[in-house]
Amino acid sequence: MVANSVNMQTAFVAAPSKTCSQSRGIARLSQCPAPSARVVFNSSISGQKLVQNNRQTSRAERVAALRVCAIKDGAVLDRKLRVAVIGGGPSGACTAETLAKGGIEAFLIERKLDNCKPCGGAIPLCMVDEFDIPAEIIDRKVTKMKMISPSNREVDVGKTLSETEYIGMCRREVLDAYLRDRAKSLGATVYNGLFMRMERDGPEGEYTVHFNSYEEGGKVGKPQSIKVDAVIGADGANSRVAKEIDAGEYDYAIAFQERIRIPDDKMAYYKDLAEMYVGDDVSPDFYGWVFPKYDHVAVGTGTVINKGGIKQYQQATRDRSKVKTEGGKIIRVEAHPIPEHPRPRRAQGRVALVGDAAGYVTKCSGEGIYFAAKSGRMAAEAIVAGSQNGTRMISEQDLNVYLSKFDKKYWLTYKVLDILQKVFYRSNPAREAFVEMCESEYVQRMTFDSYLYKTVVPGNPLDDAKLAFDTLGSLLRGNALRQGAKSVSFGSKQPEKVAA
Ligand SMILES: Cc1cc2nc3c(=O)[nH]c(=O)nc-3n(C[C@H](O)[C@H](O)[C@H](O)COP(=O)(O)OP(=O)(O)OC[C@H]3O[C@@H](n4cnc5c(N)ncnc54)[C@H](O)[C@@H]3O)c2cc1C
Repeated sequence: MVANSVNMQTAFVAAPSKTCSQSRGIARLSQCPAPSARVVFNSSISGQKLVQNNRQTSRAERVAALRVCAIKDGAVLDRKLRVAVIGGGPSGACTAETLAKGGIEAFLIERKLDNCKPCGGAIPLCMVDEFDIPAEIIDRKVTKMKMISPSNREVDVGKTLSETEYIGMCRREVLDAYLRDRAKSLGATVYNGLFMRMERDGPEGEYTVHFNSYEEGGKVGKPQSIKVDAVIGADGANSRVAKEIDAGEYDYAIAFQERIRIPDDKMAYYKDLAEMYVGDDVSPDFYGWVFPKYDHVAVGTGTVINKGGIKQYQQATRDRSKVKTEGGKIIRVEAHPIPEHPRPRRAQGRVALVGDAAGYVTKCSGEGIYFAAKSGRMAAEAIVAGSQNGTRMISEQDLNVYLSKFDKKYWLTYKVLDILQKVFYRSNPAREAFVEMCESEYVQRMTFDSYLYKTVVPGNPLDDAKLAFDTLGSLLRGNALRQGAKSVSFGSKQPEKVAA
């Protein structure tokens, strides 16, 4: 493959004056270089020859040759559309899977194939069905949650769940590897490599994606490049692809988590139970958690507004849960940013962002796995449809279709959770009111249905009215509306345009 690629590139360099003929919207690529996208630079003896050949050709000639390979939006291709997906978490793996299924040549680049993403690993029931997650990926089924208020009032949530309903707990290294392998089995090419940068050969040209390949082991990696028609940035909260397209920044929370192996009798308590702690001590704007994992618990917390205080909040979360976790051994300590809202720009040219790279974690619950997988699938579906199963060149408009559909489907979910966070996580009296409210079976059913099935469930008007009065009552009893009432604002700081 390497030798072939180099030959193609050499032919390209030697014959820069050959053009891609375009007539009546049909792009003929037979004379273009690298029709199947793989070019290896500087990584072998052949690669060195290539560098020498390059030196004999002027830069102007090379640029001219690249220009003639621009392919207009919608033009018919005489090879498959080629898409690079950067990042092999849930968003990237699900993008690559859907692309491969849809007849597109997909290249998935993941820097660490055994990556254990810092994460609680909780997934909603609908993800298990929608993404065909096999039973063995789910380590535990959580059917009970304890909400614990600042004054340590405990409310059990989960009474409304049926026997078949649960929150799935999984290990990210297991889930991600499974999803990537599935994409590979369907035809995606998976590279173990660190994406470095990319450049585009003119406004309608192809993208050259540069990465350090770890295919042959070693820590440093060998520089390698591929040429593709489109790029999906699925490389998480610190996305390099987002930087490449000037996608802009987002506010982020810092989440801190310790994995603690606790004695068996204590682990039995958390068999199917997750805990959520709220209070100024554990976080000024989020919650602390104890989640049951495969053979240990994850204890963590997060904050946006006082990132410097994260260790103090973590200590408070551990103190609050101490009786139930003491005697445990910390086996891992991890911290990672969580995006607070979508980036100002999520698509440019033939590049789009999905998952955390785009900024799709919900407020209030901090949930992102399902939205990552879903956004990856939706972006890929838009590419498959726009390219007519990989037979035509896609456009930015095709990628905007994905954005519009995603926003339309989930805007309300994000908004409701944003408002809930602003109202209920703002002071201890508000948090007391929040926990009190969770006693209501109606609230529990609404909350679980919304979480498990990812729909903001329309309620019964009478129950809704009762809930509104009860909520107000809880807030007033807790004096929650007084402190900082003027600071409540409904809506994100940087509102995104949402499709009708
Ligand atoms: C502490 C914590 C707890 C959380 N708990 C939950 C939870 O319980 N449930 C939930 O739904 N969500 C949770 N989240 C959020 C969730 O982890 C993310 O929303 C989710 O992982 C997003 O998936 P993704 O595929 O978009 O990105 P990621 O999972 O971050 O995957 C990105 C991938 O890209 C790779 N990558 C990055 N840069 C490069 C590069 N330059 N080249 C090649 N590869 C690259 C990474 O190695 C990684 O595999 C939690 C987050 C944190 C921080």
